[in-house]
Amino acid sequence: MKIPKLTKRYCPYCKKRTEQKIKLVGTGFQRGTLTRGSKTRARLRGLGRGIGNKGKWGSKPPQTKFKRKSKTTKKTNMLYICSECKKSKYQKKGIRMGKQTQE
Ligand SMILES: [Zn+2]
Repeated sequence: MKIPKLTKRYCPYCKKRTEQKIKLVGTGFQRGTLTRGSKTRARLRGLGRGIGNKGKWGSKPPQTKFKRKSKTTKKTNMLYICSECKKSKYQKKGIRMGKQTQE
């Protein structure tokens, strides 16, 4: 989806409609797997050390097909910068879209 660089929008600081610049901001970091059940944590706690078959602490099963998922869309996160007061504000609600380009 194409997103314009400038829009007219209400500025809560100026309390009127002003020209505002749109800046695309990343939607934060992607969380990896939870580390509670990780082998690294187990080793730090003193488990899984020594010789022989460690059973539960020995190895991890391969990642299943269902666990491997890839989302094709992401919610947008736009930052509006007022051209008059230079203050910025984030959009309230993002919409899911695949690829975003600024004109
Ligand atoms: Zn303003």
